[in-house]
Amino acid sequence: MTDPNCIFCKIARGEIAAKKIYDDAEVLAFHDIRPVAPVHFLIIPKAHVPTLYDAEASHAPALGKMLAISGRLAREAGAPDGFRAIINTGRVGHQEVYHVHMHVIGGPDPLGPMIERKR
Ligand code: AMP
Ligand code: ZN
Repeated sequence: MTDPNCIFCKIARGEIAAKKIYDDAEVLAFHDIRPVAPVHFLIIPKAHVPTLYDAEASHAPALGKMLAISGRLAREAGAPDGFRAIINTGRVGHQEVYHVHMHVIGGPDPLGPMIERKR
């Protein structure tokens, strides 16, 4: 399934340029356009799955592959010593693009705390 108006579907279809680092029939990885760390790329399923709430069993191969390739891609991208994988979901998760994507964030230095602890 693909959504004609979805920006990540457009990247998957090649209609919008992206700095791709991995591409196969099920998933695509490309650099984030506004990186928050020296290494910051996104891994998406090629199928248009808006949020993790919409994920179904049929999406499991692509979603599993996103995790399975994340370490190799992170190492190749310059994060051999650890990284953080994040999937923001919905309003509370501050999801901006409604096509499931996994951020892979890292670099030479340790990242900040995952989430600021509220008192
Ligand atoms: P999220 O808040 O998890 O939905 O984050 C969406 C991410 O997509 C942000 O980090 C954006 O910088 C990134 N992004 C948006 N448009 C593009 C694009 N055309 N190419 C690469 N990354 C993008
Ligand atoms: Zn999409």
